[in-house]
Formats: sequence, C-alpha cells, structure tokens
Amino acid sequence: MQLSILASGSKANALLLREGETRILIDAGLGIRGLIFALQQIGEQPQNINAVFITHEHTDHTRGLDSLLKKAPIPVYAAAGTLKALSPGFMRMQKAFPINGHAVDVGPFNVRAFPILHDAAEPVAYQIHVGHEIVTVATDLGEVPENLHQAFTESTVAVIESNHDEEMLRTGSYPQLLKIRIAGSTGHLSNRQTANVLRDCNSKSLKHVVLAHMSEENNHPMLAHDCARTALDNPEIPVHLTAQRTVGPVLTLS
Ligand SMILES: [Zn+2]
Ligand SMILES: [Zn+2]
Repeated sequence: MQLSILASGSKANALLLREGETRILIDAGLGIRGLIFALQQIGEQPQNINAVFITHEHTDHTRGLDSLLKKAPIPVYAAAGTLKALSPGFMRMQKAFPINGHAVDVGPFNVRAFPILHDAAEPVAYQIHVGHEIVTVATDLGEVPENLHQAFTESTVAVIESNHDEEMLRTGSYPQLLKIRIAGSTGHLSNRQTANVLRDCNSKSLKHVVLAHMSEENNHPMLAHDCARTALDNPEIPVHLTAQRTVGPVLTLS
C-alpha cells in the first residue's frame, strides 16, 4: 500500500492511497492543473482514481472536484450534509454517495467516517483499513472526539492536523475574529493539541506520523515536528512534515 500526500495546508489538501490496481483520493483541494501535476509526480492520472472521499466542503478540500469529475466520472463519498453543501444539484448530477454511519468498500480499502467538530456542514475524519494497515486521516478539527482518539490508538499511520503554534497565532497578524475561529473548538488543532493526541495514543502499532494542514502564517515546520517528536515515546517512529506546494511524503507500507 502506498500513501502519498499530494498537497497539505490551509490552501489545498489532497491525499492518494493506492493498493494493487485501486486508488482512492481523500479530498480534491488542488485546482485541476495542480492535481494532475501532483498525480503525474507519482506516476498517476485522474482516470486511475476509483473513488473520492471528501472531508468537508471548504474550498481547500474541494477546489478541483468539479473539474476532476468532468475528466473522469469518479464516485464521490462524503457525509450527506457535505454533499448538500457542495452544491444543490450535486447529488443528482454526480455519482455521489452519503457515507454516514456505515463503512464503504472500494477494492481492498474499507473506509469509515468519523464526525468531527469544524465550522462546516458535516465534517468528517476518515479511517481506512487495507490489509494490516490502518490509516487515520483527520484535519480541520478544533478538538479530537473520543471515538477519533480511539481510531488513532489502533492506527498504523496517523495523518493528523498540526495547524498552528498557539503563541505564533496569538501574536501573529491575523484579525482577532479569525484567531478566535482558528483556536476555537470548531477551528483547527494546534501543535500542542496534536502532541497531546499522539502522547495519549502512543500505540504499539503506530509506524508513521504525518503532520498535516500546517499553517504557513502561524506555524513553523520545525516547531510542529519537535512538538510531535517529543510526544512520542518511540524515537523510531518517523514524523513526516507536509507542504502546500510539494508532493510528499510518499510512504510505502507492507
Ligand atoms: Zn482545510
Ligand atoms: Zn475547513
């Protein structure tokens, strides 16, 4: 199984998982040209994607979706509220399926959705089971609910938001209302909150930590990295950084 972060940050998010002949995309926040370019870098193209899972309707997660579906009629899964929020006619026009309350199988992938708190219609995190690997992807959340906590505990790969350094956000240039939104319970996880999740979930099964959705304004990659690193008991577990404009990491798992 291979996991590739195509883009991650406040401006665009997309992640591809591939196993055998099956590819699933989590979020399509890159514009179509950027998405095609990122896919090319890992030897892929839109037509190879078997399903798209959307976490929520914000444009940094959906910018390329309409154009992608024009290029390839890929089934789209998301919470019912997200499908409705994407556009009124979306569910009628596209192959769109609500994912609430049940798991979805796409080839070898079994995908489950977890409701999360964020200022969107019906945002979710995803957990993907494939072979012996369990990948949990959670970005855009103000706090981590108990069931998602549990999901991280059993994961082999944790893709988790590490959006901001609390001090950088507090003293930074953002307007006060935006600062309150980001730091609030429906906003984004800080480095400290992410470290707490990793510390609590310090599971034996964890093989990789991927820090996602990092703010370019209110965070520094090394701050986020060090905060997560010190939270993990096992120094062997790699902590990967992600970026807005470069593909990576590309992780190959058994
Ligand atoms: Zn986002
Ligand atoms: Zn969002």
